[in-house]
Amino acid sequence: MLIAGNWKMYKGSAETAEFCLGLREQELDGVDVVVCPPFVSLAVAVQLLAGTEIAVAAQNVHWDSEGAYTGEISAPMLRELGVYGAIVGHSERRQHFGETDETAAKRAHAALEAGLFVIACVGETEAERERGETEDVLRRQLSVLEADDNLVVAYEPVWAIGTGETATPDSAQEAHAFVKTLLDVEVLYGGSVKPDNAAELLSQPDVDGALVGGASLDLDSFTEICRAAIRS
Ligand code: PEP
Repeated sequence: MLIAGNWKMYKGSAETAEFCLGLREQELDGVDVVVCPPFVSLAVAVQLLAGTEIAVAAQNVHWDSEGAYTGEISAPMLRELGVYGAIVGHSERRQHFGETDETAAKRAHAALEAGLFVIACVGETEAERERGETEDVLRRQLSVLEADDNLVVAYEPVWAIGTGETATPDSAQEAHAFVKTLLDVEVLYGGSVKPDNAAELLSQPDVDGALVGGASLDLDSFTEICRAAIRS
């Protein structure tokens, strides 16, 4: 079971240090834990979580190792910092920054090549779900990825991200099982996971963990979700 916290554009280095100092005091044996701070907070997170089992991942990564790509960060740069992995293809990047299936796949491929662990995000929008296109969308998004020991997929229905709406455990299970028919990987659920719904979602047979946004920003709620994963 893997619980990853996507901090989005929250927590500069001071808040990251405070969170990591608290996190390292927690007893979290029995679950793989990853935190994904903003780029500028990665170094302090890596430093303060060194010597623990808690890994640090970035929220994005470029496909070239260097070049004229203003504002981007490459996989070798992340590796040099001691970062363990990266999220690619998050719906907020697709929605606001022109990320496509192809660019997400290029990022995933480069990150894997460089030795990073990758969390590749997929999921349908509300309109796509209403049109009955969920499986078509997942098929299209996954068609550009290849299974890899260092790749997990996060199924994140876009209508459930940051909205407080969550997929029912049954519909999450159905989507996860479908993803696994297309790609032999572990699948995390993401979309308004909170301490009070984590146990039920994580108890589904094909839910292998969670990618947690909002609820990962608070140490108590994040560790409660990690503990639900330990119990499931
Ligand atoms: C996310 O950012 O990947 C996410 C799932 O956010 P939230 O938990 O806030 O819905």
